[in-house]
Amino acid sequence: MATETAPPTTPTPEGVEAASRYVQPDVDVPALTALLDGKYAEVRSLVRANLAEHADILVQAETLSRDEFRERVKEVVVEMATTGQTGMGFPEEYGGGGDIGASIAAFETLAYGDLSVLVKVGVQFGLFGGAILQLGTREHHDAYLADLIAGRLMGCFAMTETGHGSNVQALGTVATYDVATQEFVITTHGEQARKDYIGNAARHADVAVVFAQLEVGGVSEGVHAFVVPIREGGSPCAGVRIEDDGEKMGLNGVDNGRLWFDGVRVPRTALLNRFADVTPAGVYESPIENPNRRFFTMLGTLVQGRVCVGGAGINAAKVALTIATKYAVRRRQFEASSDEQEELLLDYGLHQRRLFPLLARTYALHFAQEVVAGQLHDVFSGISDDEHSRRELESRAAGTKALGTWHATRTIQECREACGGAGYLSINRFAALKADTDVFTTFEGDNHVLLQLVAKGLLTDYSSEFSDLDQFGMVRFVAGLAVETVIERTNVHKLLERVKDLLPGGDEWDQAAGLLDSDYQLAMLRFREEHMLAGVARRLKRGIDQKMNPGVVFSRVQDHVIAAARAHVERLVLEAFVDKARSLPDGDLKVTLNLLCDLHGLSTIEADRAWFMEHGRLTVPRSKAISREIAGLCRKIRPLAEDLVDAFDVPVEMLRAPDLIGD
Ligand SMILES: Cc1cc2nc3c(=O)[nH]c(=O)nc-3n(C[C@H](O)[C@H](O)[C@H](O)COP(=O)(O)OP(=O)(O)OC[C@H]3O[C@@H](n4cnc5c(N)ncnc54)[C@H](O)[C@@H]3O)c2cc1C
Repeated sequence: MATETAPPTTPTPEGVEAASRYVQPDVDVPALTALLDGKYAEVRSLVRANLAEHADILVQAETLSRDEFRERVKEVVVEMATTGQTGMGFPEEYGGGGDIGASIAAFETLAYGDLSVLVKVGVQFGLFGGAILQLGTREHHDAYLADLIAGRLMGCFAMTETGHGSNVQALGTVATYDVATQEFVITTHGEQARKDYIGNAARHADVAVVFAQLEVGGVSEGVHAFVVPIREGGSPCAGVRIEDDGEKMGLNGVDNGRLWFDGVRVPRTALLNRFADVTPAGVYESPIENPNRRFFTMLGTLVQGRVCVGGAGINAAKVALTIATKYAVRRRQFEASSDEQEELLLDYGLHQRRLFPLLARTYALHFAQEVVAGQLHDVFSGISDDEHSRRELESRAAGTKALGTWHATRTIQECREACGGAGYLSINRFAALKADTDVFTTFEGDNHVLLQLVAKGLLTDYSSEFSDLDQFGMVRFVAGLAVETVIERTNVHKLLERVKDLLPGGDEWDQAAGLLDSDYQLAMLRFREEHMLAGVARRLKRGIDQKMNPGVVFSRVQDHVIAAARAHVERLVLEAFVDKARSLPDGDLKVTLNLLCDLHGLSTIEADRAWFMEHGRLTVPRSKAISREIAGLCRKIRPLAEDLVDAFDVPVEMLRAPDLIGD
């Protein structure tokens, strides 16, 4: 960021003068917390208070048996429901809060605590409740919402099967309409079609939203969702078989299980019929003619889960960073700069280099998450509910979820190591954080599969054909366009042109601009995105021109596709951070955020410096200058570090780690 306090890259006389002008900012921690909490500060406070009240669950996760712990988790979830915390996204007439943005804020904040509680809340209110709300109509809302919001009716979301997780269109469970009785008959065809990993299924759910291939009059109409009772009085309903998935790597307070259906009959009204219905006489009707588009429209309404998990990953990373940073300003190891006493860990350049880019990225992802949560709120509250906004939201949710959850995995591991042997003790939180967040990269969509969705949106510009296209269709679609058209459609090109106008040096903008100019950092990320997208489009086109099978073409280009999608999301994340920092009035808070934003921008470029050098946008001296700049930024952040993690305001009860964090 170009700030009056930031020195330029090379120590020119002006640079020395600017460096001497740098005044270390004072971090007003409550003000920074208020900025991070944003418009839902009150909701976040409520959740923090609830977490503190139930802090004993962190200990119980280690001391209770699995069965006891599952019961305890359920108890806490239901108690939290009574505070309104878990129902904020539902309509007020059923006891909800009527505010989708608030429900995301509540969920994210819950990730400061035990993650089995978080995931059980996600399953009950997000997945099960979300499916009833989004895919059902008035009759379903009246029948289920009030009870499920209050936690009186527990349910599950049974989509995944052993044979198919990512490819939902290939599910094997079948729901056949029986016109004689006006019922659907649900059947599991073979072991690969059994429902698997389903949260709440092994023990607590009485009802399942089951995704199955709908067959009417011998015609398959694709995947639809049905409300199916699975348990009564604690025992499986007739025709339903339930099995426990058993011990997992983490999240053992959640009862994941398997389900089989053997000709289970449910009434015609069990079909969640917002997007399609079957008349009593057995006629299939839907306002969305194209089956692919219908399917993606249905799934699109469930995007909230993805936004939630991304935010939860980012907040779990905050817990790890808080503990590791607090430890590093207390723990001493080896004499270094003084003979009198050993050095604090955080005074080592290496420790700063390990933790601060992750801290900066956490801030960046936080603000990127704020953008996507805002978009979700706007789309689902009808504020900007057009087709293009929906597709854009889906893409952004997928990308932020992927980057946010990968970031959690990486950050938690680095922080664990940064605490040495102490990091390995369960009381210090990392054992649970690692085990419980690991699967965030897989559920609510495998991250690599999600990035392919991002790429599809980019390459087709969420065109009207977007929802109709499968992978092959997408390849053909892109191959049919000129490469320039693909680039034109993405808008990256225009953004890059605009930035080139802003930066000095014309085509040499990358050489002339100051490293701490956020326009330079953004231009670098835009260049990478544009270049990668053009490369993908060119390769897809070439493959089709050579009459190769579209599937083979896509498979060969797939790593390039993923890289382009990632480059796109990285750009969005940096943009969100830059926008936030620019929006602040001059003052210490802005200076502080600018330091973090620069660190994030430059670290992102540094992480891919080989690519930038390969593509002629980074010289060797400049690449080295970036590394020097990063080290300088780390030194400036060092005195602010504890304040920067305190601003996350993780309740002290959630940190545990009494020997690591001090009083
Ligand atoms: C703890 C837990 C809780 C869960 N809760 C629920 C729940 O409540 N309800 C529910 O319905 N589901 C649930 N799931 C299921 C979860 O959503 C799926 O596991 C997830 O969608 C991934 O599907 P999969 O396991 O079949 O993996 P796969 O789709 O088989 O993926 C395996 C690997 O193959 C790769 N891959 C897949 N397709 C491609 C491709 N086209 N190109 C390149 N690589 C590819 C993936 O990147 C991944 O690395 C849960 C899972 C777990 C572990």
